[in-house]
Amino acid sequence: MLKRTSISLLFLFALFSFLPQTTFAATSVTGHKIIIDAGHGGDDSGSTACSGLPEKDVNMQIANDLKSLLEADTATVYMTRNDDETLSNNDRYTIANNSGGEVLVSIHLNGSTNPLTDGTQGLYGKIGKDKSFTQVMHNALWSGLSATPNFTNFGLTNFASGLLLKTTMPATIQETVFISNTNECDLLKTSGGARQQEIAQNLKNGLVNWFAQPTPTPKHGKH
Ligand SMILES: [Zn+2]
Repeated sequence: MLKRTSISLLFLFALFSFLPQTTFAATSVTGHKIIIDAGHGGDDSGSTACSGLPEKDVNMQIANDLKSLLEADTATVYMTRNDDETLSNNDRYTIANNSGGEVLVSIHLNGSTNPLTDGTQGLYGKIGKDKSFTQVMHNALWSGLSATPNFTNFGLTNFASGLLLKTTMPATIQETVFISNTNECDLLKTSGGARQQEIAQNLKNGLVNWFAQPTPTPKHGKH
């Protein structure tokens, strides 16, 4: 009896001495420099399929949520825009290339004429620079959001975007969810920001996974 109690106490002591480190452990984004690009802005609304909520505004909300999550883990975040500004691709990649950031995540929402279509898709520019990063980010969004009703994995697509091609670091456009989907539109409007936060959390998970890899640096000189 006594023996058992002391073993249990020892176990409890070991558990409690462990807890603070595990709970507040640094994640893999700690100390990293991450560029967040909120898609569209200003004169460019992006998709207007969700009445009263233009894509540009949701992109900014998700970008701000992601920024907070990353900064809470002491990552350094650079934003291509902080407000409802009109930016060209040239503006965006110039800001990115001058920032010293290691990776760039461009946040978008997809659109379809079919209001039932929903899902997630990752876009990459250069295979060597962007594809593996895009895959890791896409995987995190897919695994985190796949429980959404009628959610489809649209995989990766090559997209010759100036932003992706002209940035010097691994870069990706994530078409996170379909704003044209009736369910998503409602969620984004009425969840009090919870859906935006959920998308941001999954983007953060992707960044954690990327920086946790043994060799997260881009492979130069291919394509
Ligand atoms: Zn967009």
